[in-house]
Amino acid sequence: MSTTTLAHYVAGEWITPKDEEWGIDVNPSDATQVLAQIPRGSAGVIDHAVQAAQSAFRGWKAKTGTEKAEILHRAANLLAERRQELGTLVALEVGKPVGEAVAEVDRGVMIFRYFAAEAVHPIGQVIPAQKSGSLQFSLRQPIGPIAVISPWNFPVAIPLWKIAPALAYGNTIVWKPAEVASFTASKLAEVLAEAGLPAGVLNLVLGKGSAIGNQLISHEGIRAVTFTGSDTVGMGISEIAARRNIKFQLEMGGKNAAIVLDDADMDQAAKLIAAGAMRFAGQKCTATSRAVVLSSAADRFVDILNKEIQALPLAPANDPKSAVGPLVTKDAMEKVALYADLGTKAGRVVLGGKRPDDNIYKNGFFFEPTVIVDVKPDDRIAQEEIFGPVLVVHQAKSVEEAIAIANSSRYGLSVSLFTRDINAALQYIHEIDCGMVRVNGDTTGVDPHAPFGGMKFSSSHSREQGPAAIEFFTETKTVQINA
Ligand code: NAD
Repeated sequence: MSTTTLAHYVAGEWITPKDEEWGIDVNPSDATQVLAQIPRGSAGVIDHAVQAAQSAFRGWKAKTGTEKAEILHRAANLLAERRQELGTLVALEVGKPVGEAVAEVDRGVMIFRYFAAEAVHPIGQVIPAQKSGSLQFSLRQPIGPIAVISPWNFPVAIPLWKIAPALAYGNTIVWKPAEVASFTASKLAEVLAEAGLPAGVLNLVLGKGSAIGNQLISHEGIRAVTFTGSDTVGMGISEIAARRNIKFQLEMGGKNAAIVLDDADMDQAAKLIAAGAMRFAGQKCTATSRAVVLSSAADRFVDILNKEIQALPLAPANDPKSAVGPLVTKDAMEKVALYADLGTKAGRVVLGGKRPDDNIYKNGFFFEPTVIVDVKPDDRIAQEEIFGPVLVVHQAKSVEEAIAIANSSRYGLSVSLFTRDINAALQYIHEIDCGMVRVNGDTTGVDPHAPFGGMKFSSSHSREQGPAAIEFFTETKTVQINA
């Protein structure tokens, strides 16, 4: 495969900078394969992109809902035509097993179609006026140029569930994707351009967030920022946005628990927890990273769990059989190795705990799925987001204790409970502190049109996707017309 030179996309033009540093994009399943050269961005290109988004705003806002919907429908059709090509690129670029990567592109198609329909959906409310004969209503309007800052792990679905509503409700965009997902981002910008999006409505700036991210959010032309990524970066963004008094939306980390009661269907629980913890090497914000099992069922559960995990193929991401795949970077792999090592002191490693021996893995960032039992709930490996194929198992003596352990985290994104006991399920639904709550289901995999988001340090408390998106991507005016 030849190396591609990527470019920024600003004001409808692809810009290959002459004065910037360059990074490289490698295949995490085989790091000897260099996929692309990535420009690192600069204050100059950010300023250019924000100005382009400002200039395009009035025209895009003035388009009818039908005109915006047509473009989003065309984007959906183009994405559907290119699903295999884009899914393969996601597998190569970020190491997502190709089956899941193609499914993510399909999700992108659904997102475009949903927000195409939203663009012509009635919004606002008529509010009875106190003054006789007056007409009073709320009007929702676009905000202006929005900064979209996205992570690498869902390089299609996450940016699109921000970009599609931003466009449908009439905003313009400057998008800064994670550097290791720059190639996929360029292809998505290409799809939107081909779908007929006017120049300047979507601008793509590539580069390292730590170097150029703050300049983007601090730019006076940016009116709102929607971010998904780690809580460390998210908290820094919230400070800048609060100082500028612009809207911000943050989706951040997770330390998601699955609770297993002793009346649960153990086969179902073990299968779904294995998949939730280990597929895509645990690199999902909603990945299951803690299992909390009633003591009476713990040994039986761990036995079945380990068999289910061993049945998930660890293979290069572009192998159709792959379920686990590599870590995204060498740094990420080393971080996982460090936590696995901590696990030998904090508990007992009963599966994995090391890099795979086979030679086929030697050039990639692979780590074996790892299970650590007998871990105290307040231990580092039970509290910090590892973002890798590591599951810790705790034991609890009662439903109350299991819920308390699940809640003993600074995060509150996603959680699941396995039981057949309706009373225990109701108690858990009321007492658990998480944004997404399942019973007899995986902590991962939210429906594309269901509100998405968390509590505590997982989120800034707004919700993304589906009917929730309008809250963030519009501003409200209350209008009263008197005779
Ligand atoms: P990250 O925080 O390192 O980067 C996210 C984005 O922020 C990237 O585009 C990056 O370039 C940019 N960035 C970095 N420093 C910045 C700065 N100072 N200013 C502005 N932007 C900056 O996260 P990541 O490694 O790409 O993704 C993994 C993290 O994302 C995990 O913590 C995971 O839980 C989280 N995540 C959360 C959700 C969710 O919806 N809650 C979904 C996916 C991933």
